[in-house]
Amino acid sequence: MNTQILHFDTQRLNAISIAEVAQRLGDTLKRRGRLNMTTCPWHADTHPSLALYESDKENRCHCFSCKNGGSVIDYVMQRESWTFKEACQWLSSEFDIGMVDNKLYAPRPKLRPSRAAPEPPDYTYIPEEMVDALVSVENSLGRCLMQMFHPEAVEWVTELYRIGCYAMNGHDDFTVFPNIDLQGRVCNLKVQHYEANPLSPRFAHSDPGSCYWLGAMWVREGRLPQGAVFNPLCLFGEHLLCEYPSHKVVLVESPKNALFGALAHPQLLWVATGNKGMLRREVLLPLRSRDVIVIPDRDAIPEWQAEISRMGDIANFVVSDFCDRVAPEGELKFDIADYLQQSRLLPF
Ligand SMILES: [Zn+2]
Repeated sequence: MNTQILHFDTQRLNAISIAEVAQRLGDTLKRRGRLNMTTCPWHADTHPSLALYESDKENRCHCFSCKNGGSVIDYVMQRESWTFKEACQWLSSEFDIGMVDNKLYAPRPKLRPSRAAPEPPDYTYIPEEMVDALVSVENSLGRCLMQMFHPEAVEWVTELYRIGCYAMNGHDDFTVFPNIDLQGRVCNLKVQHYEANPLSPRFAHSDPGSCYWLGAMWVREGRLPQGAVFNPLCLFGEHLLCEYPSHKVVLVESPKNALFGALAHPQLLWVATGNKGMLRREVLLPLRSRDVIVIPDRDAIPEWQAEISRMGDIANFVVSDFCDRVAPEGELKFDIADYLQQSRLLPF
């Protein structure tokens, strides 16, 4: 007997217009030059940073902010938190694409290494001197903090977290956030630019699309070896966990939140995942056995509550809905820094 095994036609599924797929999933597209942009499902994206590339040769997405991206199937999986099979099922039925049998079956496309990665690669760490050379309060976020907190406290927090200043893209004051691990190794450096004009409604908020990783940039510039792989699984502030072994820890999403928290409540040790999707077991392991208050941004509370409930074996976590309780109406993305900023700026 000849049993026919049917498979998803992944080649055709990945050839469905990615812009069309995004729209079917309810995403709004914004035209920027020749590209369609939409919000990125790999990070908490407030402005559309995911570029959709469509041409004869390609049909894929790439996020200018967090650098994630991939094929149509990758996008659907990430957007809906579906498995490969679920994403293929939805695409096949939504766009009426039939199954194929063995002979026609095109091999499953290679997924991004972050999904497949069978063995941890040999990571490249960034020389400490390269970070030391950048440490300075003169960065755009530092200048914002100076207007809200005591200058000496801002200098203290800058030194503690090794916050730096970097010139690029026509600004001389990008803020550098190093990810330094428990062993004191510099895994990577995130740079972001902030609005430092106190009269702007976006004061102390990052400029859209202004987030980059220095690791990759320095490889392109020849300052770090070609082929370098950086460890993405590191908390911002992780290096401080050994320094303050008995402090209660507060876990937040963005490094900016951690800095605001450290300035307002220095008796607690503030660490950040970097983005919403990095609330992962491998990332949280350094928190082992600690008392940890988790303060998700308002839009991530249910998701983080669910994730944390599966990780109770790692640490003594308590998830707080603080950002929901204090958020002004309609401010869906309200975070702890927004709260601390408001309470500092309001003329009581
Ligand atoms: Zn992204």
